[in-house]
Amino acid sequence: EYGRPFIILKEQQQKARIKGLEAQKSNILAAKAVSNVLRTSLGPKGMDKMLVSQDGDVTITNDGATILERMEVQHQVAKLLVELSQSQDNEIGDGTTGVVVLAGALLAQAEKLLDRGIHPVRIAEGYEQACEIGLKTLGEIGDVVEFDERNLEPLINTAETTLNSKIINVNRRKMAEIAVNAVVGVADLERKDVNFDMIKMEGKPGGRLEDTELIQGVVLDKEMSHPQVNFTKMIQQVKDSGANLVICQWGFDDEANHLLLQNKLPAVRWVGGVELELIAIATGARIIPRFSELTPEKLGEAKVCREISFGTTKEKMLVIEGCKNSSAVTCVVRGGNNMIVQEAKRSLHDAMCVVRNLIKDNRVVYGGGSAEIACSLAVSKHADSVLGTDQYAIRAFADALDDIPLALAENSGLSPIEELAAVKSKQAKEANPFLGIDCTQNGTNCMKTQGVFETLIGKQQQLLLATQVVKMVLKIDDVISMGQYQ
Ligand code: ADP
Ligand code: MG
Repeated sequence: EYGRPFIILKEQQQKARIKGLEAQKSNILAAKAVSNVLRTSLGPKGMDKMLVSQDGDVTITNDGATILERMEVQHQVAKLLVELSQSQDNEIGDGTTGVVVLAGALLAQAEKLLDRGIHPVRIAEGYEQACEIGLKTLGEIGDVVEFDERNLEPLINTAETTLNSKIINVNRRKMAEIAVNAVVGVADLERKDVNFDMIKMEGKPGGRLEDTELIQGVVLDKEMSHPQVNFTKMIQQVKDSGANLVICQWGFDDEANHLLLQNKLPAVRWVGGVELELIAIATGARIIPRFSELTPEKLGEAKVCREISFGTTKEKMLVIEGCKNSSAVTCVVRGGNNMIVQEAKRSLHDAMCVVRNLIKDNRVVYGGGSAEIACSLAVSKHADSVLGTDQYAIRAFADALDDIPLALAENSGLSPIEELAAVKSKQAKEANPFLGIDCTQNGTNCMKTQGVFETLIGKQQQLLLATQVVKMVLKIDDVISMGQYQ
């Protein structure tokens, strides 16, 4: 199904080759090591990680995909988990920690079964069956959230759930509103379509997180260039076309700058290609390679073009608002230092992805591990009806699902086993799939009351992707280092 993976292990070079059960176990060990790193980051009370790169750059983050990317994992099997987290990030944008924790738990359970002499293929098949039950259960317990332009509250709530676990959670209401307004600004709610490319994110260290704002237009981290050559003719061409702002991908020297100033033509230089395109789309302008090609029809239009300054520093940014063609928006993220700004940008991106997913598909499940517990109950129930060895693997899958609420409780300083047992028995007794771990100690286990939502497609994707990777790891029974196949 996956072709035949050919895996090379770095530290195994001295050893000729590992085979069979030994190979499976060593791979599981490597993958578990990675997932254990992320386990403590899960949930609203999860910890952050500080990652220091070779040249000393520091990143502080809670985002699973970012942590794994910056960890620079070497082990080939462990790398599969890094890719797992990235595919969740690419497709959904959130749930990147959860998916790796789940995969780790599935592998830990598989290890126990291997010890009991169950064949890896039986485990893989049991997992597959169990995963299907899980997906079906998610579909059944899912809820639909209704929203429209006038009632964006459900979207804001979901964005807030995503932001709960991030450094910026003190300002989560405001950040969630920014994320929702940004996405709704570029969305076509009727066609359920979101043009993510029209959202731009700029960050500027200094100032407070609360100063973060959404601008209905394009913001350039550039100042007006004032003013360079031979150039007189070019400027005449610009003036003749009727343009009153010049934006240039390349630079021009000081003399040209001076001439522009003399002719009262504001200009911006060294603007990146992507930004230039965005401005062109937004204002309906055409990008021209030579001054001689400038004609009035190629000009774009915007209502306002102004510079914004930041507090006492001299730094400025350029804002182009009221663009003719489109709804491009820019988030200007502020924060005490660059690390916070970068993390705030990542967190806002997660929140925007979640809002986009909801606009595309408005079904949700509840968080706090409630959905996992409901699936776990359904999967164990199914295991009871299965004869033969597959039931062990199916039950193991249910146990692995329990690891999400366990980790959430543990990270919130609660006693994990007691908490899980209590919630699980309550769910079974009341047949209420909304009960989860009360991480924030709000006094209720009902995640619906607490307003902790996650998108249905996000959760389903987690189960699906984690199961796929685990099956892949289980099927590797021979690790051959280059040339050493004897
Ligand atoms: P991920 O990268 O997987 O999104 P997070 O650190 O964002 O990881 O944690 C997500 C988990 O935290 C989900 O299981 C979600 O349901 C849970 N969660 C978020 N907010 C709350 C809350 N207020 N109460 C309980 N659980 C929460
Ligand atoms: Mg999250």
